[in-house]
Amino acid sequence: MIPVNSVLLVGHFPEIMQAEVDRRLTPIHHPDPQAPAPAGNFQAILIRSNTKLPEALVKQIPSIRMVATCGVGYDNLPLAYLQERGIKASNTPGVLNDAVCELAIGMMLALLRRIPEAQEYVKSTAWSKAPFRVTTTLAGKKVGIVGMGRIGQDLAKRLEPFKVEIAYSGPNKKSLPYDYYQNVHDLAKTCDILFLACPATPDTDKMITAEVLEALGPAGYLINIARGSVVDEDALLDALQHKKIAGAALDVYENEPNPNAAFLNLDNVLLTPHIGSATSETRIAMTNLAVDNLEAFFKQQTLPSEVNN
Ligand code: NAP
Repeated sequence: MIPVNSVLLVGHFPEIMQAEVDRRLTPIHHPDPQAPAPAGNFQAILIRSNTKLPEALVKQIPSIRMVATCGVGYDNLPLAYLQERGIKASNTPGVLNDAVCELAIGMMLALLRRIPEAQEYVKSTAWSKAPFRVTTTLAGKKVGIVGMGRIGQDLAKRLEPFKVEIAYSGPNKKSLPYDYYQNVHDLAKTCDILFLACPATPDTDKMITAEVLEALGPAGYLINIARGSVVDEDALLDALQHKKIAGAALDVYENEPNPNAAFLNLDNVLLTPHIGSATSETRIAMTNLAVDNLEAFFKQQTLPSEVNN
């Protein structure tokens, strides 16, 4: 059992997640993470991966021993500080793979076939004056995945029936039937479509540089379902504005929820508002896995998904 009022719920939780939290916990709400911590002997924090947990907030609560984040990415946590204080952290890997991969596939098809623009073409009656432009076929293309982890591997399996060749890059070569490139530049050079599915870390910060985009080339497409920080956005804007790549589909941005306005005026982008895991089934599963971690912590059991690095 989780002791009543021992969990601090930091930030905003959408209704569907809040309902799950309230079903299993009696937390104290702290909607503004920048506000001073409320009084109380909280032992754990529950937060979402889109909310940054300020180190200063954790410092104000000496009783904290555990932070559970709803999301597989944990770049929102002050991990070095948590580790220094021996505070455990958990995330929610795996349960969001289906939703994220489905969005990624949808973005890819919509980008290549220009589906949003095609719908607008019909709705605006432009079709009555001239046929819509021709686009490009996915079959036969080479698709690169940067970050062949849980999401990357699920994505590759979903891509196989589309008759594409698959390759990947990342720190470690895996026993997978796809070409491996240690270097993202070399992967981009060989690919028509480059998916980003790696975590936000100091190593991946602005990893997609002007040179990588140049290697992807004028017929190449970038699809980012990872984190905005992985891409040098100035370089991407320049590449899109000057047609150095064919297009990009972005679910994540450096500055959320206010992405660089220059993206909004481009006709070779497809933009979604960080909705990779935003299905009701997935959000419920993420919340429950986060609470499972809290429960295990309070029972002094092994956490189902502890963040260890
Ligand atoms: P994961 O299982 O931990 O996989 C991450 C993969 O990235 C691993 O295979 C890792 O390689 C690779 N990697 C690490 N550093 C790298 C680098 N420098 N260059 C290239 N690859 C690198 O995580 P996941 O569950 O697949 O999730 C991946 C990321 O997707 C999350 O961290 C999150 O940021 C993002 N995400 C976004 C959404 C969304 O709403 N858009 C939703 C969920 C997740 P090794 O295996 O060789 O270590």
